[in-house]
Amino acid sequence: MSKTQFPIERFRQTETPFYYYDIDLLRETLSSINEQREKYGYKVHFAVKANANARVLDEIREAGLGIDCVSGNEVKRALELGFDNQKIVFAGVGKSDWEMRLALEANIECFNVESLPEMEVLNQLAMECGRTANIALRINPNVDAHTHQYITTGLEENKFGIGMWEIEKIVEAAKNMSNINLIGIHFHIGSQITDLDVFKVLCSRVNEIQKWFEQNKIRLTIINVGGGLGIDYEYPDAKPVPDFEGYFGVFHKFLELREGQEVHFELGRAVVAQCGSLITKVLFVKEGQHKKFAIVDAGMNDLIRPALYHAYHKIENITSDLPAEKYDVVGPVCESSDCFGKAAVLAGTKRGDLIAIRSAGAYGEVMSSKYNLREFAKTYYSK
Ligand SMILES: *Cc1c(COP(=O)(O)O)cnc(C)c1O
Repeated sequence: MSKTQFPIERFRQTETPFYYYDIDLLRETLSSINEQREKYGYKVHFAVKANANARVLDEIREAGLGIDCVSGNEVKRALELGFDNQKIVFAGVGKSDWEMRLALEANIECFNVESLPEMEVLNQLAMECGRTANIALRINPNVDAHTHQYITTGLEENKFGIGMWEIEKIVEAAKNMSNINLIGIHFHIGSQITDLDVFKVLCSRVNEIQKWFEQNKIRLTIINVGGGLGIDYEYPDAKPVPDFEGYFGVFHKFLELREGQEVHFELGRAVVAQCGSLITKVLFVKEGQHKKFAIVDAGMNDLIRPALYHAYHKIENITSDLPAEKYDVVGPVCESSDCFGKAAVLAGTKRGDLIAIRSAGAYGEVMSSKYNLREFAKTYYSK
């Protein structure tokens, strides 16, 4: 497996900060996904909210994946970049009318519907534009993903999905809606899940829920189990391609399917996280009373995950051979939370050194903002 090699000389001539994508690693990841999913005929829609970079999406489209969208503009982008409309699914608890209309007019594959009022409005809009919406009900399976509270989505206390207690009412309502076609069920329990047993628990909940549909004589063709597979933020080079064999294997082993059912996945992070790094330059090394600060020219506006979720990213000084020391690596934004790592162990660091913040390909560039009126970081590619 290829490990990210940084073209240091090229980096030295490039204005910082910038995102750098290792296209070879992305391709390797996509081939592994395809190799493993094809064993069981599974379909994967890439969760574009993890990375909406056009070059990255081109690779993903070429690999044949579909797209999982959570906004109208994501649907629009997927269409503009040439994704097949019949490979686009649209989820989200708060779809605006224009967003639903856009997706209806594009005749997308499936809407993942999260509530009864949403389904009613979708039916109405579909009627108005003379379409029938294929829908999957997003069911909240009440499974604890054992991940950060901000990225757990499958518990009853979360805003997402439909509870099993109200499913009968919603299914009955769907039957009476002329422009709604219920074809599947959908689940997404959270993100950065590294314990595959969590997916095993999800499978057994889905199996129970499938029984309910069977007893009520409702035929489902799509079982969408969402995304959430985690990556190794601590050792990005040890296993840069996630364990897709183990991941799809759990579903193959534990998910009970009925005749003619397709299994869909919506992977985001696991597809793109490891191929991206945020490259930044050291502006100053400031000596505190008890520690050293490496002040870099990237900020929380470029990569907000550490500030937002206390997320860990491996930080490397890629231009120094000096003995390692500890630094708090901080950005220039006027917030104390603008810190990429506390007591990070880096090779001896001085002004002008280049720092790589690793595993930044997912929820990195796409979450950047212009806070403090900073410019967006540019993007470069290995090829
Ligand atoms: C965010 C999201 C995903 C992708 O999650 P990852 O953890 O990045 O794999 C999949 N489905 C839905 C509905 C989402 O909101």
